Amino acid sequence: MTKSPADTKGNSAVAKVGPAKAAPDGGSQQKSERKTHGGGCHCGKVRYEMTSDVAKVISCNCSICTKSGSLLTFIPATEFKLKSGAADLIDYQFNKHAIHHMVCPDCGIKSFARATGPDGTPTVAVNVRCLDDIDLKALTITEFDGRSR
Ligand SMILES: [Zn+2]
Repeated sequence: MTKSPADTKGNSAVAKVGPAKAAPDGGSQQKSERKTHGGGCHCGKVRYEMTSDVAKVISCNCSICTKSGSLLTFIPATEFKLKSGAADLIDYQFNKHAIHHMVCPDCGIKSFARATGPDGTPTVAVNVRCLDDIDLKALTITEFDGRSR
């Protein structure tokens, strides 16, 4: 019996749980603190620095985010500095070609994307999974219905 690969509904594992509050109020745990984070792809060819409070993280159900598992935070391009890999990155585009998905040609990791915000601001979508020092469990993740856009 062949099983059809039709179970592509994006409504399983919903991250509605919220951040685990294990520690009592230790005091120094500041949330929404603007900080510079290093990040990049898996092999290290693509490296960048981004400055953000990483307050809002999006889990999108569009066709590419579903497959890549990206968790995105959006920052102005001025807060993003690509330090290495610029010449090698693959600029993958699809659909309306509105977003430039920047893929490392060696390890295949898409650690960020470039786009233009609704008000025309150059924007970078950083895959927070690719940041060096982020505690994914401490993030509040918002579901985004990119599939219907
Ligand atoms: Zn790489």
